[in-house]
Amino acid sequence: MDTPSRPPAFDRAEALGRLASEQFDVLVVGGGITGAGVAVDAATRGLRTALVERDDFASGTSSKSSKLVHGGLRYLQQREVGLVYEGLAERQVALRNAPHLVRVLPFLIPVLTRDGVISRRLARALGGALWMYDLTGGLRIGKRHKRVSSDQAVTHMPTLRADRVAGGYLYYDAHTDDARLTLALCRTAAAFGAAVANYAGVTSLRKDDEGRVRGARVQADGDEVEVRADVVVNAAGVWTDEVRALDEPSHPHSIRPAKGIHITVPWSKVRNDIAVVVPVAKDRRSVFVVPWGDLTYVGTTDTDYDGPLDDPECTPDDIAYLLRALNAVINEPVGEDDVLGTWAGLRPLLRTAANDRTADLSRRHAVRRSEGGLVTVTGGKLTTYRRMAADTVDEVDALLRKRRRCRTKRLRLLGADGYEAPPDTNEPSRHVHLAHRYGTEAALIEALVDDDPALGEPLVPGLPYLKAEAVHAVRREMARTLDDVLTRRTRARLLARDDSAAAADDAAALVGRELGWDDAERARQVKEYRAAVAAERDAADLPETALGT
Ligand SMILES: Cc1cc2nc3c(=O)[nH]c(=O)nc-3n(C[C@H](O)[C@H](O)[C@H](O)COP(=O)(O)OP(=O)(O)OC[C@H]3O[C@@H](n4cnc5c(N)ncnc54)[C@H](O)[C@@H]3O)c2cc1C
Repeated sequence: MDTPSRPPAFDRAEALGRLASEQFDVLVVGGGITGAGVAVDAATRGLRTALVERDDFASGTSSKSSKLVHGGLRYLQQREVGLVYEGLAERQVALRNAPHLVRVLPFLIPVLTRDGVISRRLARALGGALWMYDLTGGLRIGKRHKRVSSDQAVTHMPTLRADRVAGGYLYYDAHTDDARLTLALCRTAAAFGAAVANYAGVTSLRKDDEGRVRGARVQADGDEVEVRADVVVNAAGVWTDEVRALDEPSHPHSIRPAKGIHITVPWSKVRNDIAVVVPVAKDRRSVFVVPWGDLTYVGTTDTDYDGPLDDPECTPDDIAYLLRALNAVINEPVGEDDVLGTWAGLRPLLRTAANDRTADLSRRHAVRRSEGGLVTVTGGKLTTYRRMAADTVDEVDALLRKRRRCRTKRLRLLGADGYEAPPDTNEPSRHVHLAHRYGTEAALIEALVDDDPALGEPLVPGLPYLKAEAVHAVRREMARTLDDVLTRRTRARLLARDDSAAAADDAAALVGRELGWDDAERARQVKEYRAAVAAERDAADLPETALGT
């Protein structure tokens, strides 16, 4: 199936107008990866589709993941072979359908000695697990894992403590920008006719005389819109139970949120040219150390969470956990003053009767239908969003008494059709930067710079994002706030929190010009953004930092 080559208008005012006036087959609640995937699946099956997100697209968990499109080697240890198989099959689909956004990333697992002794049992177990990973579907990527010498391992991360490295294994998975992948799905759904709006939250459900859910009331810009839909899909991530409670008399408590955080440090402190898997002493877990341009991020943690679902925080203990894991394997310790960015997210895990560690809980998904016909999809992973969407829309079709074939297996997302990957190079270039974020749509940003060369300057000095990207974010990607632009359309806040705050005035001038902000609104946006950044830093008890110092 071909994605329309002309980018959709992706116009919020138009979408809100349609939400108020049209009758939809399906209304999706939640604009994270799950809801966005459901909207694409439904729209490409020919359903009249709407999606509403109460905050910004991907502002929940889907901008705060480890950004890996993978089977999850770890889940093999938990004997979740089916889940790993599904993840690896979906990894392949994502590499094909969104090659600009999802790219192969090699991983190194160093085999470490303890007190000068190699655990041969551990090394053998690792080799066995990687064979299993390859056979479960890893091989689809076209390369199999291999053993490397200690010298080769250290070449990939020269800061590794060479005295502790006895060798290593290389294997392959894939990496993405989670928020941009989610946005690409929302825009692809719109290209297939879906009405998609951010800052539009469901406050209650509409029911007919027989108690069947027939749409929702949606609040946007202070107004309430009645959206008429034959089926409503609840894809609200960790807020799923809140939406279910609008349908059922009692609050269901089906989700067990598990917090995970990441930190960003200067790449020069780690110098890894590929991702590295670092074991955490005494915790039966590992963390990933992933290069991201001039920075490297480290994560994640996995802890039970019972705090407020909006804006989970990184605590000093979380930061210490990751720094301890990293510093145990490298020569020069990385300190708190090297932590340039942090992010914390909540996994929407399915609650089980057993009181297992959250790290040991399954990442499977489930689709259920309430008596009133509300279809709820929960659990899962970023990687398996397409499968989750297919299962969900099958359920929608069952309710509508229709059987339509899922079309997404070979559906190229916006920006993918005609995309040619730039040649592999370590040299940073504007062309590669834009190609990897926008695919064929990079031409739209290049055109903005051609018209006004000042838009070719950095949005945040020291980071690769261009001012033109902020303009594009407003004109074509429905960015509504300064935070939308600095946190999700670009990832400036994740990479360099304080530098992004320092550039907030300039960025707000640019964004405000597009959105028609007056001086007071511009000042408010800057103040709010800086306050959020300061709160994030203070909660983690981190010092103010700046790139290049
Ligand atoms: C630390 C961490 C690391 C992870 N790493 C990976 C990884 O590397 N690979 C992987 O495959 N998976 C990973 N995951 C899992 C993955 O990120 C999640 O499974 C996925 O992002 C969940 O997406 P979602 O759309 O279900 O939820 P969300 O992204 O949270 O989306 C739900 C949306 O619903 C909206 N909403 C809520 N209530 C309403 C309402 N009333 N009206 C309208 N909208 C509403 C919210 O604002 C939110 O945007 C990770 C998760 C975490 C926390």
